[in-house]
Amino acid sequence: MTTAKSTSQSSDKALESMRKFAEKYAQRTDTYFCSNLSVTAAVIKGLAEHKQEFGSPLCPCRHYQDKAAEVKKAYWNCPCVPMREEKKCHCLLFLTPDNAFASNTQSITTEEITQLCSEME
Ligand code: SF4
Repeated sequence: MTTAKSTSQSSDKALESMRKFAEKYAQRTDTYFCSNLSVTAAVIKGLAEHKQEFGSPLCPCRHYQDKAAEVKKAYWNCPCVPMREEKKCHCLLFLTPDNAFASNTQSITTEEITQLCSEME
C-alpha cells in the first residue's frame, strides 16, 4: 500500500538522486549552474518529479503530448541528446562558462532546493 509517508520518502529520494546527478554531471562536463539558483532548483525538482512518476528524468522544460511515450523515446531524458552531443541545455541547468547566465558553482544543497522552490509557490 502506498501511504502519504512512503510517497514523500520516495519523492525525497528522487530529489536527492537528481541533485547529486546534477552536481556530478556539471563537474564531468565542465558546466556551471545558473547565476539565478532558483532556476537550478526548479529544474532539478522538475526532473525529480518526472523520475518519480515515469522512472526517468524527462526534461521538465518542454511540453509533451504524451510524457510516457517521450520517456520511451529517451531523446529528452536528462542528460538529453542536445546536451550530450553539443552541451546545449535549454533549461539553463548546465551552462558552459562562456554563457552570460553561468555562475561559478557546480553545487546546490537539498535545503537550497527546498527553500528556493517554496519561495516560488
Ligand atoms: S535541456 Fe537537456 S540537459 Fe537540460 S535539463 Fe533538459 S534534459 Fe537535462
